[in-house]
Amino acid sequence: MNLILMGLPGAGKGTQAERIVAEYGFPHISTGDMFRQAIKEGTALGKQAKAFIDKGDLVPDEVTIGIVRERLGKEDCNSGFLLDGFPRTVQQAEALEEIMEDEGGKIDAVLYIDVDPDKLLKRLTGRRICSNCGATYHLEFNPPKQAGICDKCGGELKQRSDDSEATVHERLEVNMKQQQPLVHFYSEKGTLKKINGDQPIDQVFRDVKAILGAVFD
Ligand code: ADP
Ligand code: AMP
Repeated sequence: MNLILMGLPGAGKGTQAERIVAEYGFPHISTGDMFRQAIKEGTALGKQAKAFIDKGDLVPDEVTIGIVRERLGKEDCNSGFLLDGFPRTVQQAEALEEIMEDEGGKIDAVLYIDVDPDKLLKRLTGRRICSNCGATYHLEFNPPKQAGICDKCGGELKQRSDDSEATVHERLEVNMKQQQPLVHFYSEKGTLKKINGDQPIDQVFRDVKAILGAVFD
């Protein structure tokens, strides 16, 4: 099954992706993670993406589409994948349609995690990520058992540099502008499945599973 997780920054895409991957085993393709990895490794892609990410802007479509096209061409995507944070613009969504056509597949479902934008500032500024395994926590909503330490691997928890309050405002504004046309794009195709993301993490995951169960049948 080929899936997309959509939603504003902080909606809970990465959090649900961890659970979906553990349950269903799809490769998790997060463009944000790919850019952060490239920045860490100091590659040409990382250097190109960094300036946009630091400002809270989107990385240009041609760059982002290029890395996704390459990734979806890898063998592990043949039996399904979970896209997280891509597409974010209609141009990216149209490019994805072409990629799927070239690969002889289609997008089966777009899980749109809907959260009141007023709640997202707190979610993003309180987010902490394990520097070792990438697991996501929240200081208040999903705290680790021991402060600053990952429950799963013992790694050190860190704040993403673009989760500072100044950058978060810009990110939310930029992403909100792009989201409505995307919602419209996938509604028209009949693949959009809206999920109430304003519920506890486990309840959101139960709703995800109910939808995937129906799509799988
Ligand atoms: P995204 O990948 O969409 O940007 P994340 O999954 O990283 O969002 O979640 C953003 C922050 O909100 C994280 O700190 C996460 O622990 C927390 N979070 C995720 N889902 C929920 C939820 N349903 N309720 C409260 N906090 C949540
Ligand atoms: P995320 O981890 O999804 O919050 O993404 C972090 C940052 O990476 C975003 O603020 C963008 O700068 C960049 N990014 C991630 N995915 C995309 C995308 N599909 N299109 C453009 N930029 C992206």
